[in-house]
Amino acid sequence: MNKIGIIGGSALYNLEGLEVTERKKVKTPFGEPSDEFVVGKMGNQEVVFLPRHGRGHRVMPSEINFRANIYAFKVLGVDKLISVSAVGSLKEEIRPLDVLLVDQFVDRTNQARATTFFGDGIVAHVPFADPVCLSLKDLIMRSNKDLEVKIHDGGTYLNMEGPAFSTRAESELYRKWGMDIIGMTNMPEARLAREAGICYSTMAMVTDYDCWRTEDGSESVTIEMIIETLNKNVETAKKMLINTISNMSECSACGCSKALENTIITPKDQVPQETLDKLKPIIEGFI
Ligand SMILES: [Zn+2]
Repeated sequence: MNKIGIIGGSALYNLEGLEVTERKKVKTPFGEPSDEFVVGKMGNQEVVFLPRHGRGHRVMPSEINFRANIYAFKVLGVDKLISVSAVGSLKEEIRPLDVLLVDQFVDRTNQARATTFFGDGIVAHVPFADPVCLSLKDLIMRSNKDLEVKIHDGGTYLNMEGPAFSTRAESELYRKWGMDIIGMTNMPEARLAREAGICYSTMAMVTDYDCWRTEDGSESVTIEMIIETLNKNVETAKKMLINTISNMSECSACGCSKALENTIITPKDQVPQETLDKLKPIIEGFI
């Protein structure tokens, strides 16, 4: 039986239909997660929910403790993680209120974010050519085919640092690169989920056209415009989560849980005991 984790993005702070059994504060060797974890059931499915920015949106993208969040999901037994993320569109045909199921990322964060569980005496190189779980992505697609919202199956998410939005020159540059959408949070979240052997798939909820699209006289993106669309997108995201979770038993097999196999380079007897203890939930069975 799977345990499903949901990371809620901007404006998604709670989930109706989730029968809450407990709220858990999780301490990790990497520090404090964004908030308490809400543990409960949707139908027969166990679900663990975390608002990425904390309730009340207190944590900005560069400040999110991604390692603590993913480590805590692992410790709580979550094996499939659905990330709900607000994004800007870099293409005409990807419209506000559409959804895009991401299949690639380009990381343009400033690398001040901690991007790996490894280090401190242990080295591992995890394959990341396909950075999301395609089985989980396909399940989300299939489960929502009757929804009256345009869902794009695949696309590349450019992760910028933020918190300010792009300059017009940056936005045009990313368009020339062929990027589809832009956001601030999925990196290193997806990479850490892979290291932790957790399936990860992103429902990217499109709020706006970033700042490149000004030819029709519409003004550049403002916070007010984004918040109105965010709220509509939250309703869509909730429907999509319910549809997907009720079909979870139909998710096809994948290799995510074995992602660490043959990737840890350091022999166990060379790794400091403190590091082995710290990473136990993640590396057990792979070293
Ligand atoms: Zn998977």
